[in-house]
Amino acid sequence: MLQQTRVDAVIPYYQKFLETFPDVRSLARASLEKVLTSWSGLGYYSRARNLHTAAQVIVNEKNGKFPATAEGLRELAGIGDYTASAIASIAFEERVPVLDGNVHRVLTRIYALAGDPKKNPLKPKLALRALELMPSARVGDYNQAMMELGALVCLPADPKCSICPVQKFCRAFQKNEIEKYPTLQKKIIKKVFWEAALIENNGKFLLAKRNNNRHFQAMWEFPRGSVEGLQLKYRKALPAVKHSIMAQNITLTPQLYSFLDGKPVPAEPYVAFRWIQPSELGRFPTSSLNRKILATFLDFRR
Ligand code: SF4
Repeated sequence: MLQQTRVDAVIPYYQKFLETFPDVRSLARASLEKVLTSWSGLGYYSRARNLHTAAQVIVNEKNGKFPATAEGLRELAGIGDYTASAIASIAFEERVPVLDGNVHRVLTRIYALAGDPKKNPLKPKLALRALELMPSARVGDYNQAMMELGALVCLPADPKCSICPVQKFCRAFQKNEIEKYPTLQKKIIKKVFWEAALIENNGKFLLAKRNNNRHFQAMWEFPRGSVEGLQLKYRKALPAVKHSIMAQNITLTPQLYSFLDGKPVPAEPYVAFRWIQPSELGRFPTSSLNRKILATFLDFRR
């Protein structure tokens, strides 16, 4: 859950998730729909799908036993180098360094290493330096200390060098060149404009389930394309909703329609439909974008 998401946003989801799925077997047994519903609003839904797949592999192929090494962990869906090293070192004391954005920043500054930490030739060089620096005991504590040093002291802008415990080893500090490291590529944020149909039928709304292709796989949403088989009356455009997903800034305009007649027919990208009361939205796996759409409608109706 913590991949790409802040701790304070994760805590309530984490607690509820553990109540719903108290162990790996209950998670493996659950339907994907139930797992996605528990994840609704947290974003990056591939994490939930991967967690579910990984639980099934642990139960069905590993006899319910969680892998205890970074190498074994990397075989599970959704676990890359960073997560594998974090789990292996913190939970199982394996001597493997964790390299996240915070640690990249600390190491590139300490050694004054230019280049993109996520790419060759710097990536393997940093991994080697990180391993050389590791103590032989309390490796989980050490990795957490390095991540905290980056998160709390060696900040991207205005690092707190005056209180930094490694200041005397820091080449970037000595050369007064801190702002040069790390060399990061600018993230390109795309602006996109979407529409969604809010189709009202006696106080209920049409919700559509996406297929397993591309984005929002198997999630439910207010339809964002045309739905075959329906006769509708267009009412009006509601105020636009703003939302950010990964590298996209979305402006979505909900279009309000009244249902007249017909039956929605499954067609790409939708495989199923339901008419739901506004209060039922939370029972379906949906992204928070759909909650914002509904909130806009409820505001408009007031
Ligand atoms: Fe970061 Fe400053 Fe510490 Fe160097 S001295 S590691 S730049 S906080």
